[in-house]
Amino acid sequence: NARTTPNATTTEYRGEAGQPRLAIVTGGTRGIGAALSARLAKLGYRVIAVYRTSGGAAEGTGVLPVQCDISDPQAVAAFADQVLDEHGTPAVLVNNAGINIDRPFLELTGADWQRVIDTNLSGPFHLIKAFAPAMLAAGAGNIVNIGATTGIRPRSNGVNYAASKAGLLQLTKCLATELAPAIRVNCLIPGMTETDELITRFRLDDPEHRAAVLAEIPQRRIGSPDDIADALEFLVSAHSSYLTGQKLIVDGGQFMW
Ligand code: NDP
Repeated sequence: NARTTPNATTTEYRGEAGQPRLAIVTGGTRGIGAALSARLAKLGYRVIAVYRTSGGAAEGTGVLPVQCDISDPQAVAAFADQVLDEHGTPAVLVNNAGINIDRPFLELTGADWQRVIDTNLSGPFHLIKAFAPAMLAAGAGNIVNIGATTGIRPRSNGVNYAASKAGLLQLTKCLATELAPAIRVNCLIPGMTETDELITRFRLDDPEHRAAVLAEIPQRRIGSPDDIADALEFLVSAHSSYLTGQKLIVDGGQFMW
């Protein structure tokens, strides 16, 4: 019975000695990541929130902010060594940090391409590479990669972002196979989710733009970071213990793949 596996017992938020389990959330101090960190902390995890520049945003939230540029393999290796030494093996790794540099293809530079790929695709690769051996040795682990709907349904002016998120989805599936049965790997895909980044990118503070966006979403609202945290809670819980290598799209019904 899968529910007797170490990752899916009633004590899943507690380690062997009753210690809170460790969770790492990249980009965990801001936007969607801040809600994911807060939810894991509420569930009883000790949370390390990785940031690049916005460490101050974690103040007073109870999560531990740690600076690390996830696009830099050496920085990630040093971060992982420090975490494993000082905090132990993470039970949960959420690869949430992501950026976009949207431009028409003909204006996109090689540097724009590389920066987005290095952060959105290579970042999760470096982190999983750094932590999977310890998770495998512990016999349990739960990895959630934060994708994007454009990784499935392409749109104009963001080939770098779309390709990075499509790659992340395939990386999810391959690793769900290779790291099974100890580690589950899933891709949680937010639809339009209300963060500062999205409001600026889609000009949602303009009522006309917002109304046009809402017209395309059957649920008639922009998602909140807490909607994504609800799905994360499911993915790290025993209620999803037989679920791996999947994409879970939380988009108010906008795309329905
Ligand atoms: P934000 O721009 O609000 O936050 C991005 C986060 O990623 C920040 O915490 C940022 O840290 C961190 N980050 C970026 N680059 C690095 C890096 N090199 N190293 C470490 N951390 C880094 O984004 P959202 O909250 O909107 O998005 C979060 C995730 O959800 C992303 O992967 C995004 O692609 C995805 N997504 C979002 C959607 C939305 O509607 N909002 C829709 C679909 C997907 P810092 O501030 O310290 O630089």
